[in-house]
Amino acid sequence: MRWEGNRESENVEDHRGDGGGGGGFGFGGRSIGIGTIVVALVGGWVLGVNPMTILGLLSGGGPVQVSQQQQQRPRTEGNDREYKLMKVVLADTEDVWKDLFRRNGGTYQMPKMKVFSGAIQTACGTGRSATGPFYCPGDQDIYIDLDFFRLLEQRFRAPGEFAQAYVVAHEVGHHVQNLMGLSDKVHNAQRNASERQANALSVRLELQADCFAGVWAYHANRARSIIEKGDVEAALNAATAIGDDALQKQSGGEVMPDSFTHGSSAQRVRWFNRGIESGEIAQCNTFEARQL
Ligand SMILES: [Zn+2]
Repeated sequence: MRWEGNRESENVEDHRGDGGGGGGFGFGGRSIGIGTIVVALVGGWVLGVNPMTILGLLSGGGPVQVSQQQQQRPRTEGNDREYKLMKVVLADTEDVWKDLFRRNGGTYQMPKMKVFSGAIQTACGTGRSATGPFYCPGDQDIYIDLDFFRLLEQRFRAPGEFAQAYVVAHEVGHHVQNLMGLSDKVHNAQRNASERQANALSVRLELQADCFAGVWAYHANRARSIIEKGDVEAALNAATAIGDDALQKQSGGEVMPDSFTHGSSAQRVRWFNRGIESGEIAQCNTFEARQL
């Protein structure tokens, strides 16, 4: 990915030194397994947007010792480069979405990104590293612990800066859904839905965020030629690695389509592709798609 020297967002806050590295994993100090997360989702957790992204499910994928390393993580050169990458990618999403909203007669309100380590207080409760990156509709902030990228590289063999950019763009996708009122709509629909229907709606929301990430990539690349050879494959690889079916296999469980909350690997790849190939928001209507 070609990004060095590009504009950096002013909406990124560094909360890594805040001392929120307390013990306990997952929200509210409970340990989080895939089952817990599914239950939390079904319970209509915070406006219906899974605050724990696709990626959040990672915490259910195995032991969470990752978090313990995070508590007093030294600020290495490596993660300062990543911090800078976060600022550049967020700035890029600001430019792209501002333009897309304007073209549709709207105004894009920029989200903040809070980079933390350990734990952080959010309008959605205590966010923890083990949850992975997430978007909180309550405060319109994106939360990310850069150590998540180690997990992406090591456990999921999905390295690469563009894969990291895709993760950010997916979270920004949830913010766009929030601004469009889609998150509220889904949340309301989920209230009167069966568990199975509620999950199906969550999947559509997640796949749409993937498609929006693709839409961003299309426009960013047109304007700034950020994509290099192998980048798209890296992002698709990340999407594949963190599809629910892949995660469930990793955790040793059976793949159960009804409990999918983020979409299968193939679905995630398909919707990201739809976005990056067309660059059109209208192509991301997962809610009316007959086939995901
Ligand atoms: Zn998500």
